Amino acid sequence: MFPKNVIAIDGPAASGKSTVAQKVADKLNGFYVSTGNMYRAITLFLMQSKLDLNSEATPEKIDSLLKKLDLSFSKTADGKLSMTINGATADGAIRSPEVAKYVSRIAAMENIRNWLIDRQRNLSKLGLIIMEGRDIGTVIFPDAKYKFFITASPEVRARRRLAQSGETPEGSTVASVAKEIAERDEMDSKRKIAPLKKADDAIFIDTSEMTVEEVVNHIASFVKETPII
Ligand code: C5P
Repeated sequence: MFPKNVIAIDGPAASGKSTVAQKVADKLNGFYVSTGNMYRAITLFLMQSKLDLNSEATPEKIDSLLKKLDLSFSKTADGKLSMTINGATADGAIRSPEVAKYVSRIAAMENIRNWLIDRQRNLSKLGLIIMEGRDIGTVIFPDAKYKFFITASPEVRARRRLAQSGETPEGSTVASVAKEIAERDEMDSKRKIAPLKKADDAIFIDTSEMTVEEVVNHIASFVKETPII
């Protein structure tokens, strides 16, 4: 582990973590990593493998399918990280409502989390990383030098998610989106392994009344010593 190179950002669904983390990465010249996208990529891969996620998602079946999955990252010309799923660049399909429907169930499985843990930790070898998720400050990088926990009110989060095109089913309302994210947060917070939780030493930020720029500047103000190797 290279915790000095890690800025961990955790928080519930649609709290604005990814927008903020991407901008913090741009500001500090680091790499942005969405671990939610890694869980979504696995979920999409399992769906494309014709596994019925309602009835067939046993640890054994998933283990044998994971042997056929290559989830890789490479640096792009513009200094970002690009994720590939068996060689194909991950696209908007991982953010679809269909994947969102199953991802929390998949992310609660021990073998899935075990499969990802070293892959996530190894990314810190690339340099400064700004990694966002649910368990980055608690489990993946408990020794990260900088940890933040970002949230916002349920209504603000629902409005933000609704504004992200392609991520909500047609005809969605603030109420329906709020319900979907509340259900996902409940599953993520109540699961046994690596639940969604603020690390004791994480800085808590309620972004309900803040602009993206304010949140980014607030986070950057804590990062006094840019932790580059
Ligand atoms: O952040 P995002 O909404 O893309 O995450 C999708 C799902 O992936 C979460 O609802 C959660 O179930 C799972 N996840 C997780 N641990 C992480 C990141 C995401 O369990 N570190």
